[in-house]
Amino acid sequence: MSENTLYDVIIVGGGPAGLAAGMYAKRAALKAVLIEKGVFGGQVAITKSVENYPGFPEIGGFDLCEKFLEHAKAYDLEILEKEVVATEPGIDYHSVRLADGTVLRTNAIIMAVGGTAKKLEAAGEDENFGKGVSYCATCDGFFFRGKTVAVVGGGDTALEDALYLAKITEKVYLIHRRDEFRGSRILQQRVFAEPKIEILFNAVVGKIKSDEGGVTGVSLVSTTSEETWDIDTDGVFIFVGFSPNNQLVPAGVKLNSSGYVITDEKCETSIDGIYAVGDLRQKFANQIVLAAADGCTAALAAAHYVEMKKEDTPAS
Ligand code: NAP
Repeated sequence: MSENTLYDVIIVGGGPAGLAAGMYAKRAALKAVLIEKGVFGGQVAITKSVENYPGFPEIGGFDLCEKFLEHAKAYDLEILEKEVVATEPGIDYHSVRLADGTVLRTNAIIMAVGGTAKKLEAAGEDENFGKGVSYCATCDGFFFRGKTVAVVGGGDTALEDALYLAKITEKVYLIHRRDEFRGSRILQQRVFAEPKIEILFNAVVGKIKSDEGGVTGVSLVSTTSEETWDIDTDGVFIFVGFSPNNQLVPAGVKLNSSGYVITDEKCETSIDGIYAVGDLRQKFANQIVLAAADGCTAALAAAHYVEMKKEDTPAS
């Protein structure tokens, strides 16, 4: 790494999208660096089991990420374990600013920074985080062995993690605000067939109740009547969606109303040479295979962009 180097492409984020981009960038002989501040693999690294990545009928999320990382390293991808604090578009080149003050120059940037679990914004949620409130079943499910937990949400994550928690705990309440799930049919069938899961449709959490030992229950409010009632639970797992991590996206890049980056079919944003991939960009579905595909698309597009740029720039 050097401030004097002009990279062809800088990839920000080391999840499936970023690592796939890194692999393809190296295969296209680009001068590339991938920068990751935390855990390689992003959200997938904390997913217990992945059953829908082609070629792997079942693999642990962390194990799959290890394979992505090994594969990218096999191409000698330069990797920096550092924090990016800003991406700055320029006319001759773009820049990526690190927390230590270093500024790296590059022709193209691939933003692969993913997203973060949304909060429920319920009373008692923040003060009980880590005391019974959790956003990660794989991380915290173990602490509720033989106990009762509530899962909130109706998407794939809620269904998948309710099933996971049913294996560990005594009972799972699955609380959803509507009377049908958003999650996939196959997960719905498994949830309906699991005797440890009690589904509470048309209900939202009014308050998470606790004492000095942590969560003790939740107060529920019906979405179809005036009814309110309480259930006893030792934990509350919240899976109500996801927000894109768009804080590093430079001003001038177009976002949709939910904060996802709008791109074209090459994953290029509204600024030339800046690409967004994976869960950060607006698209039909967020899946690991699609994140990896985005990484591939953006790296190939960046290779073409860099080649054209070099042809247009007379050698000095
Ligand atoms: P999601 O699909 O956006 O589902 C969020 C769920 O939370 C919805 O059921 C929504 O209800 C509910 N919700 C949102 N805000 C709420 C609130 N304030 N109070 C109560 N409920 C609320 O999110 P996700 O399940 O995290 O999935 C994100 C993406 O990852 C999806 O594309 C999903 O397919 C994918 N994913 C795939 C897998 C897999 O294939 N193995 C696993 C996990 C995630 P409504 O339905 O009423 O809107």
